[in-house]
Amino acid sequence: MSNRTVSVLGVDFLHTTMNEMIARLSGHLEREEKAFVVTANPEIVLHAQEDEAYRTYLAKASYITADGIGVVKAAGLLGDPLPERVTGFDMFLSLLEVANERKFSVYLLGAKEEVLEKTIAAIERQFPQVEVAGSHHGYFDWDSTEIEDEIRLKKPDLVFLALGFPRQEKWIAERYDQFEKGIFMGIGGSFDVLAGEVKRAPVFWQKIHLEWFYRLVKQPSRWRRMLALPVFAGRILREKRKRTS
Ligand code: UDP
Repeated sequence: MSNRTVSVLGVDFLHTTMNEMIARLSGHLEREEKAFVVTANPEIVLHAQEDEAYRTYLAKASYITADGIGVVKAAGLLGDPLPERVTGFDMFLSLLEVANERKFSVYLLGAKEEVLEKTIAAIERQFPQVEVAGSHHGYFDWDSTEIEDEIRLKKPDLVFLALGFPRQEKWIAERYDQFEKGIFMGIGGSFDVLAGEVKRAPVFWQKIHLEWFYRLVKQPSRWRRMLALPVFAGRILREKRKRTS
């Protein structure tokens, strides 16, 4: 499997498909190898351009995949296309399927206590062979080492962090060297979706690549964050002009 990456405004995305990525991570799981996976959307790319500390977290990642059509379109516009989007939520579900088949254990960190409980219940219902080795809600004291101590002790195969960016990448990057094994991955608001708190856009909206629009209408408070999209598009077009002139 090739490790070729495609740079989008300085962030190096793995040139991969969803299926290939799951095969790659399954291989790591079988061999008990560590990995740190970041799924980056346009907002993350912009944040990385502006925040040096965040760039050091990304530099520690084993893989960065394209979370969203914006990154895939940008790579195409810049002349080095990525095959498809490889999102955090889709990988979360696929990895739970793998864990269900192979009886791998998971640790869940993030979201509000009641959302976390519903997430665990949903996993137990839909993926009954998965062992939930431990969990903690996402509103903890960052100076306490309780969570990493538990993860070191229990050695789960997969650690999913639903803390939102940049918190989840910061948490992993600052502690990654302490762990012997485990796939560590930030998955944003995915617990809320699995718990049924936030609905994912119907397939129709996903297919026409307007999932972001559906989410904006459902959660108007997101509008401020969505301003990142036109800013991202502007920077990509400027980069393209720079390269072709
Ligand atoms: N969250 C958390 N701790 C915090 C802030 C947020 O666990 O200190 C959780 C929040 O409850 C939600 C998830 O992080 O479940 C994602 O939040 P957000 O929508 O801000 O992130 P995104 O999905 O856009 O990355």
